[in-house]
Amino acid sequence: MGFLERAIRKGVAKGVGQAVGNALSKAVEPKVTELTNKAANAIDETTREYTGNTADTAGLKGAFSNLERAVGGYATEMSKNMKLCPKCGKPASSDKKFCPECGEPLPETTLAQSSVCTQCGRQNNIGTKFCSECGAKLPIAIQEEEAKQRRNAEVMAEWDALLAVYPRWSCGGEISIEDYGSDGVSFSACFDGDEAAAHRAVDEYRQILQQNGFRPAGQYPSVRQLFKRIDGIVYNVDTEHCFEGDPDRACIGFCKREPYGGFDYVKPEPKKKMGFKDLLGL
Ligand SMILES: [Zn+2]
Ligand SMILES: [Zn+2]
Repeated sequence: MGFLERAIRKGVAKGVGQAVGNALSKAVEPKVTELTNKAANAIDETTREYTGNTADTAGLKGAFSNLERAVGGYATEMSKNMKLCPKCGKPASSDKKFCPECGEPLPETTLAQSSVCTQCGRQNNIGTKFCSECGAKLPIAIQEEEAKQRRNAEVMAEWDALLAVYPRWSCGGEISIEDYGSDGVSFSACFDGDEAAAHRAVDEYRQILQQNGFRPAGQYPSVRQLFKRIDGIVYNVDTEHCFEGDPDRACIGFCKREPYGGFDYVKPEPKKKMGFKDLLGL
C-alpha cells in the first residue's frame, strides 16, 4: 500500500465520523472500507501519472466527492432499517427490541425516524443533531445525550464503590473507569477534541482535591501528585501523566502509595558553615 493510499484511508475514516456521526460511522464501517479501498486505489493510480495540472486535481476532487456521496447515500439508506444501541453503539436491525450485543433496550424508532424533526417534520440527514429547517434539537441528539447521562451515572456508581475516599469527579467530559486491582484505578474524562476544556477540568479537579485535604508531599512536592493520609493509609492522585495518551482525554490515576521520600518528608535545614571558632569550641 502506497503512502498516499494510507493517508486517504485515514482521512476518509475521520471524515466519515464527522459526516455521519461517530455512532453511525461504526455501523457503516465495513461498507465504507470497501468504498474507500476502491477510491484509494483509483486515486493512487491517478497520481502515478500526476503532473500537477488542473485536470488531475479536478479528477482527485471528483473522486473524493463521489466517495462522500456514496457513503452518505449508503448511510441514509441503512438508517431506515437500523437502530443503534444507546449503550454500546452497535447497530441492530429495526425489528429488534433489545441490543443483541449487550442486552440494552433499543429505542422505539429507527435512525432515520430519529432524524425527523419533532417541530416541523423535516427528514434531516443522518448525523445531523439540529434540524436544518428550524434549528430544533433532533430526537437522535436527545437520545444520544440521554444515553451519555445514563453511562455517566453508571460510571459514577462505580466511582462510589471504588474511589469513595476521593472527592467525586464533577468536572465534565465523557467518563470511564478501569479497575486494576492492587495497581489502583484509572479514570478518564474525554472532551471530544477540546484540549483546553480537558486541561481546565484537570486544574479544577486538582483544586477540589486540595479543598478536600489532598496536598503535595514528599521530596518533590507537586500539584500533579497529590496525597492524603486517612487512618494511616496514604492515598495518591496522579494527574502528572494525564495527557500522555490523547490530548483531549484526561487520564487520572488513583492508588495507595507514599510519595518519594515519604508522606512526612521534611526538607532538612541547610547546614551552617563551620568556622574556626566552632571547630575550636569557642
Ligand atoms: Zn448494546
Ligand atoms: Zn424542524
